[in-house]
Amino acid sequence: MFMYDYLIVGSGLFGAVFAHEAKQAGKRVLVLERREHVGGNIYCEEKDGINIHKYGAHIFHTSYQDVWDYVNQFVEFNNYVNSPVANYKGELYNLPFNMNTFARLWGIVTPAEAAAKIAEQRTAIKGEPQNLEEQAISLVGTDIYTKLIKGYTEKQWGRSCTELPAFIIKRLPVRYTFDNNYFNDRYQGIPVGGYNKLIEALLDGIEVRTGVDYNESRAESEGLAKKVIYTGPVDAYFDYKLGQLEYRGLRFETERLKEVNHQGVAVMNYTEREVPYTRVIEHKHFEFGTQSVTYVTKEYPADWQPGEEAYYPVNNERNQKLYQQYADLAAQENYVIFGGRLAEYKYYDMDDVIKSALECVGRELK
Ligand code: FAD
Ligand code: UDP
Repeated sequence: MFMYDYLIVGSGLFGAVFAHEAKQAGKRVLVLERREHVGGNIYCEEKDGINIHKYGAHIFHTSYQDVWDYVNQFVEFNNYVNSPVANYKGELYNLPFNMNTFARLWGIVTPAEAAAKIAEQRTAIKGEPQNLEEQAISLVGTDIYTKLIKGYTEKQWGRSCTELPAFIIKRLPVRYTFDNNYFNDRYQGIPVGGYNKLIEALLDGIEVRTGVDYNESRAESEGLAKKVIYTGPVDAYFDYKLGQLEYRGLRFETERLKEVNHQGVAVMNYTEREVPYTRVIEHKHFEFGTQSVTYVTKEYPADWQPGEEAYYPVNNERNQKLYQQYADLAAQENYVIFGGRLAEYKYYDMDDVIKSALECVGRELK
């Protein structure tokens, strides 16, 4: 009597992985997508043979063997390693914070000298760090905090570092080796031919309707499927009845330049407060492009207004408490599963989303 076993709301990685696995298991699935294209935030737009990361630069990295094997069934990955450069008032520093950064900053040579410098500067913080500022200073000292963290972080999040949770900065490695790899993970790369290939392979043979907002047309999908997999914002599902969760927004400004190589690196971070954007992405470098033109995108953090794309959850106390109340409501929806970055209000990387979707579909199909 149901036309479908699963109605999947959202065609990002969570929805696409769930849809793929359910279909493989013989289930009938329908995917609804609010945007005019599939893929969620990993979607790329191709121009002049260059894949433009439309919703922000995405670098796949993971230490989960099962997730790496999983994605490699669908696409091959190139050997791109993310090594961004920080630009502070025209001074260039390697990221993440490593011996190259320390040497350039302090003229030191050995790891012991770098460690001594940081140890001296971190005495400013006593006891367990209570916020991002304290966490950052206790990890890398005051100089790096001032030049490479404070300005970037405050514009990124629109808040003072003393009002932000410490965990945000723990994402970044600190190394006493000359190693500019931004990630510590075992595996890393960009899908050969771009991320759309991965999403297209996952959704191969699956019925997808784009340009459909589930929350606005819920009556029409009532009774269509036995279960709903919902990957949109959790507060939107409940029509914001407990209040709105806050997000950080982004604005992208992309330019086509008649240059072969504009900045020599895929990602350049602008870490001073006065420059209004946080990073400039030169997309061709993700795939070692040799085209005669290039596309660069300036990424501007922005206050988020309801109805705009929600990029980053703002996991402060107020929002976490509100999210928990929505999560309690969600748990009572017996025929709906909430998953992914927006529905779980979580700062998930792609590999964590894939892992979570695989676990979710595994529980469902067992
Ligand atoms: P999404 O990709 O957001 O997909 C959700 C989908 O649901 C969207 O397509 C949306 O349009 C749709 N939807 C929402 N509401 C509705 C509705 N009511 N009806 C129908 N459809 C709806 N991760 C990494 O691992 N490496 C990186 O380098 C990296 N860089 C990032 C940079 C930026 C700027 C951002 C914002 C994220 C980055 N991420 C990165 C995280 C990565 O984007 C996510 O982990 C992943 O895309 C989340 O997949 P998802 O399916 O949970 O959500
Ligand atoms: N960060 C910083 N300076 C930089 C890069 C990052 O201070 O040059 C901080 C900032 O607070 C940011 C966090 O580290 O939000 C995590 O950075 P990451 O690059 O992981 O952020 P994402 O790619 O998710 O935007």
